[in-house]
Amino acid sequence: MGTIHELPTILADQIAAGEVIERPASVVKELVENAIDAHSTRIDVEVKHGGIDRVRVTDNGDGIAPDQVRLAFRRFATSKIEDQADLFRVNSLGFRGEALPSIASVAQVVMKTSDGVHPGTEMQMKGGTVQTELPAATRRGTTVEVTDLFFNTPKRRDYLKSSSTELGKITEMMNHLALSHPEIAFSLVHEGKELLRTSGRDNLQQVIAGIYSNQSMKKMIAVQAENDQFQLAGYTSLPELTRASRKYLSVIVNGRFVQDSELNRAIIAGYGSKLMVGRYPVAVLKITMDPSQMDVNVHPTKQSVRLLNRDKLGQFIEATIYQTLAQQNLIPEALDNQ
Ligand code: ADP
Ligand code: MG
Repeated sequence: MGTIHELPTILADQIAAGEVIERPASVVKELVENAIDAHSTRIDVEVKHGGIDRVRVTDNGDGIAPDQVRLAFRRFATSKIEDQADLFRVNSLGFRGEALPSIASVAQVVMKTSDGVHPGTEMQMKGGTVQTELPAATRRGTTVEVTDLFFNTPKRRDYLKSSSTELGKITEMMNHLALSHPEIAFSLVHEGKELLRTSGRDNLQQVIAGIYSNQSMKKMIAVQAENDQFQLAGYTSLPELTRASRKYLSVIVNGRFVQDSELNRAIIAGYGSKLMVGRYPVAVLKITMDPSQMDVNVHPTKQSVRLLNRDKLGQFIEATIYQTLAQQNLIPEALDNQ
């Protein structure tokens, strides 16, 4: 073995990128989450060739002051937490300061940003190094354009699937983000074709109808309950509307879409024997709870989180779904009038 030495920053960033940026959909996720954290009310995503050739995210959020733009691309540099206490009550989607340096280390990135107070900035990066940084006239907000993803990590590039598969992953990611934030107007355009558009009017029902169709939304009922620990709100399907996959179960905890098979199981359990074998409901459930009861620092992509009271939450979800469906059974004619 040779001597021990610290790796150069660019190499360290590339290694980190391996965990955070797996494919174009991960780029979309990280950039859109940054836009959400920046209090944007409108987020437009444009992609080319399944995002492999280009991902561009434009927001109307806080923007970045000129003297901070370089810092945003440094690893572990973040404006979202300050100390250890913050780490245990994170309420932003990001906080690790890893996304921008990771993306910039394996692609070409152009960021145009303005905080609406200072002059705007346009910075170009490639493979982790700054190419140009210039003042730019631009509106308040940020545009990040990522091209040539994995140009310097050919194995990663080879691993990508067809552009249609990658686009499918991006669409799924955008659907999750739009369901999690009905108060934000999202759009997704692939090579000129609009795949998603939401109004930003904070109407979850409308967002669900846009993603899963009006027909489906008509077969869903409102779910609302709260106890001393959790607030639960959303929609779940009548037993007559089912799918052959669990993919249509969405659980959103404090604005973050989480993949949690236990919570999905709780939703299904709420249906008791109302579902046929191999069929699953469609549901979008938003849970609000004390952020200190949730550890989001489990995985770099933060899709899996550790819930300190997951069992209780599962029981609450199951009981709420069960009661909601039971009440619905008592007033079947109300449905026809909707
Ligand atoms: P994190 O989101 O974990 O803080 P990132 O690498 O994704 O780390 O971003 C670094 C910082 O750059 C953020 O903390 C934020 O201050 C700033 N930033 C990134 N994207 C945007 C954006 N779209 N609008 C405003 N600020 C942004
Ligand atoms: Mg981020």
